[in-house]
Amino acid sequence: MSKGPKPAFANPALFACDPQHSKGRRFDEPPAPTRNAFQRDRDRIVHSTSFRRLVYKTQVFLNHEGDLFRTRMTHSLEVAQLARSIARVLGLNEDLVEAIALAHDVGHTPFGHAGQDALNGCMEQHGGFEHNFQSLRVVDSLESRYPQFEGLNLSFETREGILKHCSLRNAQYLVDTELGAGSQKAIQNSVLVSVGSRFLDRKQPSLEAQLCNLADEVAYNAHDIDDGIRSGLIDINKLSAVPLFDNFRLEVEREFGSLSTRKIAYETIRRMLSAQVYDIIDSTQVAIAENKIETLEDVRSARPLVCFSVTMRDQSTQLKRFLFQNLYRHPQVVDTTNWAKGVVTDLFNAYTSNPKEMPTYYQSRTNLFRAVSDYIAGMTDRFASAEHARLCVQR
Ligand code: MG
Repeated sequence: MSKGPKPAFANPALFACDPQHSKGRRFDEPPAPTRNAFQRDRDRIVHSTSFRRLVYKTQVFLNHEGDLFRTRMTHSLEVAQLARSIARVLGLNEDLVEAIALAHDVGHTPFGHAGQDALNGCMEQHGGFEHNFQSLRVVDSLESRYPQFEGLNLSFETREGILKHCSLRNAQYLVDTELGAGSQKAIQNSVLVSVGSRFLDRKQPSLEAQLCNLADEVAYNAHDIDDGIRSGLIDINKLSAVPLFDNFRLEVEREFGSLSTRKIAYETIRRMLSAQVYDIIDSTQVAIAENKIETLEDVRSARPLVCFSVTMRDQSTQLKRFLFQNLYRHPQVVDTTNWAKGVVTDLFNAYTSNPKEMPTYYQSRTNLFRAVSDYIAGMTDRFASAEHARLCVQR
């Protein structure tokens, strides 16, 4: 097994994001005395209510199905760990990577993707719902804890990393609200760039943002196998169809002889993770060199640079397909998914027909549908279930 590549770039690299040259916050603030801009962003995220709620939000398994399954919180921590390890070798900014990784899922609804699909369905006639765009809404406006502004007033670079994809309609909306007449404050504070612009200009985000995106995929592929085996929904022997897992499993069995299924799974997943981390470092270093990347502006104008090799991309796709067929579409998961969709849809109907059931802040908002969507999106699994029992289940 490869020991992994050696660092090839100065640290920090010239193409890394530099907190001293941040494109700034939407509302001017004096710098913090002991922390740089990205460290401050990370700390604001850790102290936010939406971050704390992630511990009670579903990743794949519902929060109450078992104490050892991943939640959105542990998933986010694993993404941060992977992304930081890679960032260190590539000379990227670790603080920024950590801030983006910890915040990347704060817009998720209760009950994982089932919740998002149901809420998007409910909001179809009212602008839709997209968890990634919602993560930006959370840090930009829904967190309400500072006297001077709504939201967490994060740096441009952290916000850019959180918004990993965006429809052109939403991108245009961001440009209009951040740079348009509606945002005099932003203009006063000379924020000249919107996080929506790059989607309209077809440019790439920073390498730190690109890295968090790929680390997200590496993290959930690995922990969903682990949780899948632990739950009994995936038979470890069926994973022989997945070369990325099976090659390492055979290696582990050759090396250690008889081990418990749990230890085989742990050691195999550990090696699988390392191989993907090394592959990303190697492939990204090659892409940076081939594209003659020297500055952050070069990064933005190039093709996406943080990547897997062709072989690893294929293997990762095979693994994803396996998980889709054997875990996400497992009848037991589909059952709970359908139940969760019903809960979200019922709650949406209950609050839109009777807004007084929501806290006053949400009742008073001008757009009722968006207020209901924000309220539901912020709920933990168990709060949503309790509200459902209170409002929608006939006694
Ligand atoms: Mg994620």
